[in-house]
Amino acid sequence: MNDPCLRPYFFDAGIRFVCQQCGKCCTGDPGIIHVTVTDIQMISDYLNVSVPDIMTEFIRPYPKGLTIAETKNGNCRFYQTNDCIIYPVRPIQCRTYPFWLRTLRSESSWRNACRECPGIGSGTFYTRDEILAMVSLSLTSVADI
Ligand code: SF4
Repeated sequence: MNDPCLRPYFFDAGIRFVCQQCGKCCTGDPGIIHVTVTDIQMISDYLNVSVPDIMTEFIRPYPKGLTIAETKNGNCRFYQTNDCIIYPVRPIQCRTYPFWLRTLRSESSWRNACRECPGIGSGTFYTRDEILAMVSLSLTSVADI
């Protein structure tokens, strides 16, 4: 039973989730929001701002790659006036939340995510396999989220 796709999980019956765009996961405590070169190109195209200008204004290096810059109070720089200005092209890390290894690795981690995110429990129904696929996708973005 070492294959992670064959193991039983607490979410085997599926989970409902829809992002309410409340911004709770984009604001407050500082964190890493990993971005890939593809993410940056998509953001550049969407905002019609050059890649060098996006890099200067919104992106910062960190030891494992590139992350979105934050304001002094820890808010994502793309979260402005209570709105994510890149929502349709947000990075993989944002698109796959809350289906991360870190949130799903235990029921207690998941309970913490449920307390923080009002979108969990309603909206689109995700099957176990869809959830595992989201976790896999999130891991293509960064190794330790
Ligand atoms: S906390 Fe949940 S509902 Fe709010 S913006 Fe983040 S993912 Fe969406």
